[in-house]
Amino acid sequence: MYRFLVIPLFLLLSACSSPTDIHDTRFIMGTLVKFTVIGGDSDQAATAITAAAHEMQRIEDAFTIYGNHPNTVKTFNTSTPGRWVSLPDEVASVLSIALQVKQQSGGAFDPALGKLNLLWGFSKEPPSSSPPTPDAIQAATPPAHCIEHQGKLWRRTDARCLLDFGGIAKGYAIDRGIAILQQHGIHNAIINAGGDIRLIGRHGERPWHIGVRHPRHKNDVIATLNLQGDVSIVTSGDYERFYIYQGKRYHHLIDPKTGWPADKTESATVMATNATLADAWSTALFIRGKQGLTDMPQDMHALLMDRHGKKIGSLATRQ
Ligand code: ADP
Ligand code: MG
Repeated sequence: MYRFLVIPLFLLLSACSSPTDIHDTRFIMGTLVKFTVIGGDSDQAATAITAAAHEMQRIEDAFTIYGNHPNTVKTFNTSTPGRWVSLPDEVASVLSIALQVKQQSGGAFDPALGKLNLLWGFSKEPPSSSPPTPDAIQAATPPAHCIEHQGKLWRRTDARCLLDFGGIAKGYAIDRGIAILQQHGIHNAIINAGGDIRLIGRHGERPWHIGVRHPRHKNDVIATLNLQGDVSIVTSGDYERFYIYQGKRYHHLIDPKTGWPADKTESATVMATNATLADAWSTALFIRGKQGLTDMPQDMHALLMDRHGKKIGSLATRQ
């Protein structure tokens, strides 16, 4: 799920920092994760950040479908179709959220696209540089509904159905990282995982200042926001993991209905109170484009850049 060669930077935090900012950067989930904690005791902040980073790494290990370390997601993905498998509560609960977003988004977000995502190969090393054949794509595209559960038991009904949490696990890891910081008594902080963020509190005397990256001009922003309290902002874009083949852009956000990269949008940014949902919905809205906006829960906000470079929607600012 998380083996990028390119480090994504969707969102740019303002460069200004005050003397009481404590920063630390770790490489987790294939990206640079920047922790900023404001005020308080520096030893306390360092301990909190280390614990948060540890938790985020644990989540990567538990959810990834890449690498050789066993986890229950990989076990599920090699299970005999039709056979019930027990999933840990944590995996089951993130999967339940993913399936709910799938249902609400008309199938645009689908956590069962693992075979297709592995075939497209944007996250492998080295990443693919040309598209698979249409036959291979068809053979890797799962039926619309292929995950079932009964209590704690889950099963896949089709061999083309492989779980892939790449569109949601980073948001979940950010949420857990913030929860760990809070457990350590931190009230003002931001976790920025390659541009996907959750912030709590304030940046000293001021709100946090956030810029949303332009999908085609990496030094430009399409929105700037002053935020405080508890806010998550997550972006899905076609400029992070992609290649150009015969003049056409191919990227890692796949339309489950076709098996091909979605082409309605250049970027989709979602603001929500937790990063798990913001992550899943940013992927869903990237696939659906503006039609998806009406399906999104009302307490979220979204800003899309469509394929013509037109901005749609807005991110409400809370001062
Ligand atoms: P990133 O994690 O790269 O910042 P996203 O959150 O949008 O960006 O997730 C992209 C990842 O989600 C892909 O690499 C793949 O693992 C997975 N994915 C791709 N298409 C879909 C989809 N339609 N529904 C759910 N997950 C998807
Ligand atoms: Mg996502």
